Amino acid sequence: MGDAAMFGHLQGRINQLDEQARRRIGEIPTDHVPPGMLVKMHASVLANDVVLTNLYRMWTLLPQSPYLPCTRPGAELEPITIAHLQIGTHHRGRSVLVRIVTPPLRLQSNLTPVQPIIAIVKDAEGAMTMLQLWHSATKADTPVSETLRVGSTYLIKEPLFKLLYNWVPGFIYCLRVDHYSDILLLPDDHELLPVQWRGSQAKASTSKHLRVQGNEAVAKKAWAEAERLYTSAIKAATTTEERQLAYLNRSLAYLQLGRPAPALADAAKASSLHGGKPPEKGLFREAMALYQLAKFEQCLEKLELLAAAYPSGISSKATVGELLVCEKAFAYAYVGEKASMSNDVANYPSLADGELLGETVQKLYHDSEASQLFTDLPRGTYEVVSSTEVDGHPVVDKVLIARVVEESGFRTSRATSDILKAAASLKRVAGNEASGLWPLVSLINHSCIANCSHSFIGDMHIVRAAQDIEARSELSILYLEPLPNDSYDDTQKRFQRWNFRCDCPLCLDKKSTSKQTMDRRNAYLQQLSQNLSPNNIYAAKRAIGQALQTYSAWAKSPGSLMCGLGIHYFLLAGGFHIANKPAEAIEIYLKGFEASGFVFAEASGGIGKKVKRKTLTIKQWGDYQVVMQFAQLYKACQKAASPIAAAVKRYEELAYLITVGEKETMLDTCPDLK
Ligand SMILES: [Zn+2]
Repeated sequence: MGDAAMFGHLQGRINQLDEQARRRIGEIPTDHVPPGMLVKMHASVLANDVVLTNLYRMWTLLPQSPYLPCTRPGAELEPITIAHLQIGTHHRGRSVLVRIVTPPLRLQSNLTPVQPIIAIVKDAEGAMTMLQLWHSATKADTPVSETLRVGSTYLIKEPLFKLLYNWVPGFIYCLRVDHYSDILLLPDDHELLPVQWRGSQAKASTSKHLRVQGNEAVAKKAWAEAERLYTSAIKAATTTEERQLAYLNRSLAYLQLGRPAPALADAAKASSLHGGKPPEKGLFREAMALYQLAKFEQCLEKLELLAAAYPSGISSKATVGELLVCEKAFAYAYVGEKASMSNDVANYPSLADGELLGETVQKLYHDSEASQLFTDLPRGTYEVVSSTEVDGHPVVDKVLIARVVEESGFRTSRATSDILKAAASLKRVAGNEASGLWPLVSLINHSCIANCSHSFIGDMHIVRAAQDIEARSELSILYLEPLPNDSYDDTQKRFQRWNFRCDCPLCLDKKSTSKQTMDRRNAYLQQLSQNLSPNNIYAAKRAIGQALQTYSAWAKSPGSLMCGLGIHYFLLAGGFHIANKPAEAIEIYLKGFEASGFVFAEASGGIGKKVKRKTLTIKQWGDYQVVMQFAQLYKACQKAASPIAAAVKRYEELAYLITVGEKETMLDTCPDLK
């Protein structure tokens, strides 16, 4: 039967049922199907019968006359049993106590979008009926078996009882719960529970045992299960320490379930139970919960408390690609097309800098708070005036602002993706059309071997880990890219604007390389690029071998940069690819990555080699600006039908994320990265 035909057929049945249900409103039915049959129907038929399921679904989705949720405490409601429930009636002021008999299942249907959970329940007298629960959690970490637990007891407040279906030899009825707050899980020792249902479960377990089980659930990311086990662990706790640990653990489960309010309450409870200073995890979870609750100032206070109380533990390792800073500009100027005059990043004042100066003056003049903050920014040795306000306005010192802009301003394109876009389409690279001040990012120092990338999306400045970074390591970014042919002195000259010398390992390596060796290297590399040809493997090998001799032991060690060599490997690899030797090209690309500071678990072969590879794993990231190189390697992998293609694709996406700051624009920027 097609969907349309099924729909028509079901519609007829539903009209009949509706008619029957209307006629029998208020009646106390005595024609329930026998309990055994109900259980059997639930298990076998409902799980598999599409027609019946769709009927249930459409029928239950018929417009209901709306009713208000219960607003009274469960204990105030007058108990009623299943045998006394009336058809089509909403039992105000009453409650029914039921125990889940069958595993619950979600009513799947291809005809309707909402999916209630159903289970068979019984009351203390042994009468059975179906329970339908709407709008419960649907995420994978909360399976239906956690929402309605077999053997657990629930109080249904002000129940609505409905005729559901005629099923020879009787009728199926159901308790329909529309409002999620109308159903209450009762603990096994609850006073409302009949004596025969009390204390049957979990009593035997110790708090510690329950906590261990909870931790196992956490390992499986079964957060709802973990929350239940930790709740039991709290109840079973006999010492303050046990109670504190269980609260702390449940706080984590709540955070993961997206319930920050109880997570905050639990973490605070754990902290208050602790004798001395609050536990580290407690403070951290309080901060996380406050963040989720958008209480950012209180979150910051907690984090500061945490940093003061546990100075060694606040940070943890950052993994490559991780977002470390996302800062909106303090002041920002975009000059677009007007910016053709000077594109030399290092040495000439730019139009954007001029506009930034004006923007900053205006901002500070009209905002005394910002003015205070601004005087804390690096400004060299410049003295600031002592008075900060006159005639009701902040004193604005243009020279100070110019110094700060000079020292701490960033010149950039409108977005880092624009630069990559220009490179991908071989157009002229966009100029520095924008300048901005980002006080936080401007605190990060330069290193030619930076462990972070920084990128721009308009006036947002993004810093990501460009490699795995150990806790408490200093972060560094590239102010300027190192130029392969530059000597140590040339390199330092380019940093004059910021008044520092770079003594990173690469600069120190340049310093210890004589001018003669540098010249020799540059001559070899020049020869190499002129004679690069896959038809002449031996010449390429010889030239690269000669160039290699000019690098120090440090530069040649795994994970170090061989300035200028990587690009030549990439060019040679491109040649092999074009000459239809993709397997050889792959190995040379990998050599290029190694010369750029990458370390692979599976080392590269050599020029002219083919290596059978099953996997490719980066153990250490090198120069992160290699999106295009990964894209080329990927193409070679596809051509060679190499099984490492998928891994290369992932690394290409990661390199894009690190370089550009986000990955959403990837296909727009480089359409052939598909
Ligand atoms: Zn350096």
